[in-house]
Amino acid sequence: MDTVIDKVLDKKFDERFATLKELFLAYRNSERCLPAFNVNDNYDLRAVVESASELDTNVMVMTYPPVVELNSPEVCRALVDGIKKTAKHNVYLHLDHSTSVDMCKHAIDVGYDSVMFDGSQLPIEENIAKTKEVVDYAASANVVVEAEIGKIMGRDVIVNSPDDFLASVEDVVNLYETTKADIIAVGIGTAHGFTPEEPKIYFDRLKEISLAIPAPLVLHGGTGIPDADIQKSITMGIAKINIGTIVHSTYMKFAKQEIDKAGAGAYPPFIMKEVLPEIKKVVADRLKAVNV
Ligand SMILES: [Zn+2]
Repeated sequence: MDTVIDKVLDKKFDERFATLKELFLAYRNSERCLPAFNVNDNYDLRAVVESASELDTNVMVMTYPPVVELNSPEVCRALVDGIKKTAKHNVYLHLDHSTSVDMCKHAIDVGYDSVMFDGSQLPIEENIAKTKEVVDYAASANVVVEAEIGKIMGRDVIVNSPDDFLASVEDVVNLYETTKADIIAVGIGTAHGFTPEEPKIYFDRLKEISLAIPAPLVLHGGTGIPDADIQKSITMGIAKINIGTIVHSTYMKFAKQEIDKAGAGAYPPFIMKEVLPEIKKVVADRLKAVNV
């Protein structure tokens, strides 16, 4: 498939950023995007970090609440601290889609670089109030806060009318001005996971939002979005893209295949040695789509 990737590959950027906030602003202003991958344990974490090092890029790894609940934020932080020592560039740790203010605060306390409070299912006033509580708490620790406006479809998200998912410019401006959230995920037609058809992205709305606020914007549902649409969105304020499903589905598919092959003798390190390169391949493919 043709993409615009070749056209922009020669961009050169200064990689010295004092903080993640600074990186996001610089990325938004230079039409660049930080790839962010959901990880579940030390194995897919290692695959993501190795792949990012091989492609010479900063990367963000994200823990979804069930991963945090199972492992604790402390263990997630320690795993990333360990693997970071082997990385060529920066590896940032993010809490993804937390609907709990307390979980966000806990992650901030243990040194996460970034947290997302997802109030997209709440009435707008409540979303704004809770997002602001997290932003205020994160301020002294200089932790990035991601807010969400509109809805990313898929999973258990309830869409009440055909354009219920679409972020309104007015709501985005209201949320941004009231909370001063650092980065904002916007519902513009993308969906989590594999989708039967290519998602229809509302680029006009994305453009309107990016003209209305200076905050870096976040695109969710990176598994199912065509490369050309990813590239286009990066020219319209998207400075972070979330990629999750392709990582865990590849992990599970190849783990099952290897376990079936090994039968009763299945031994985790031997299984994972075969699975890891498969995860690295899909991560590299998405890194190239983001044009790191
Ligand atoms: Zn998401």
